[in-house]
Amino acid sequence: MTELLDIVGQDEALARLQRGLGGQRRPHAWLFVGPVGVGKRTTALAYARTLLCKQPVRRPNDGRIERLDRDFSLAQACGQCEDCRMAAAGSHPDLQLVYKELAQYHEDANVRNRVMQELGIDVIRSFLIAPAGRSSSRGDQKVFVVCEADLLSTAAQNSLLKTLEEPPPGTTIILLAQQVEELLPTTISRCSVVRFGPLPREFVVSRLTEQGVEPARAEFWAGLTGGSLGQALRLDQQGMYDVKCDILERVGQLTPAGDAELGEYLAKLMEKLAGDAVARAKAEAGGDLSMNLAKRQVTATLLEIIGSAFRDALCLASGAQLPVIHADQRRCVEAIARRLSPTHLADAIEQLSEYETLLWRNVNQKIVWDNVVITCASAAPLRV
Ligand SMILES: [Zn+2]
Repeated sequence: MTELLDIVGQDEALARLQRGLGGQRRPHAWLFVGPVGVGKRTTALAYARTLLCKQPVRRPNDGRIERLDRDFSLAQACGQCEDCRMAAAGSHPDLQLVYKELAQYHEDANVRNRVMQELGIDVIRSFLIAPAGRSSSRGDQKVFVVCEADLLSTAAQNSLLKTLEEPPPGTTIILLAQQVEELLPTTISRCSVVRFGPLPREFVVSRLTEQGVEPARAEFWAGLTGGSLGQALRLDQQGMYDVKCDILERVGQLTPAGDAELGEYLAKLMEKLAGDAVARAKAEAGGDLSMNLAKRQVTATLLEIIGSAFRDALCLASGAQLPVIHADQRRCVEAIARRLSPTHLADAIEQLSEYETLLWRNVNQKIVWDNVVITCASAAPLRV
């Protein structure tokens, strides 16, 4: 279990939370903002356990968090008491995770059957506002962690304003979001906003290798995901490393004439991976993913893999001293750099970034992937 002071690479967040734990005026509504997989949820849960713990451990900062004085008293959960054990097991009655799929446990069948693309007002009322108004079960604290708060509907946010502004005594609400742009200004202004940045590359690599991922592969994922440990682990566990090696091998071998089979291969691969993602979401408790959304996510990943190889090739061709993401397949990157001039590489990168939008529109997928291959082979202008 990651306790609060074990969180790595998010010192700004830790400093803000520790100031709250040490001060008289502790914020009751937080908004954690940052990319997927950098520790927002882990931090929220560790902070929640610290609030619920009966004997939090305190120790002097002593340089652990640079932004705080050396003698600042840091706190974290003890990890031993009954509250810590229940919170770690996910069964603490005063720690509630709020997420859109809770709709399927709603007492109203109409809410249960609705497609869960947003975090709606019914879920917020039943699983946050109502329980926040009741007294705590075990002590004097209650914590609600709202996952994917970017998906809160406008009605849900409006219903939550009063609770965010003045939560019932002992109530803490933590909203987790990738971007604040999706939230109403009235929601944001009622929260203490904490930014989470990408994790240091070396940290992501060491955590991945600890989990049994080979070093070269760990380096690749850390580079591709830009410091998102969660995303790196997820993609690796889904077998995406073999997929990327295969794609890069084929893209490296392309000739300016293109490869008719590669477009078809990519189109089928996208369909298959999206189908797998939908099946995985179904198998996970409470998961729900539409095929359209799955296709969009898979497409973004495939285009990112291909695009990053072209950015690597441009780096090599222009002699830039930047770390190469596909260092594990340097030969393929060199082949791309030999095939296209730096100008054409830059054109290809730009075109690849446009395909994601095209694939999302009602354009025939096979035609788009054929064009992706033409871009990769010769960077000829788009034909769609
Ligand atoms: Zn404890």
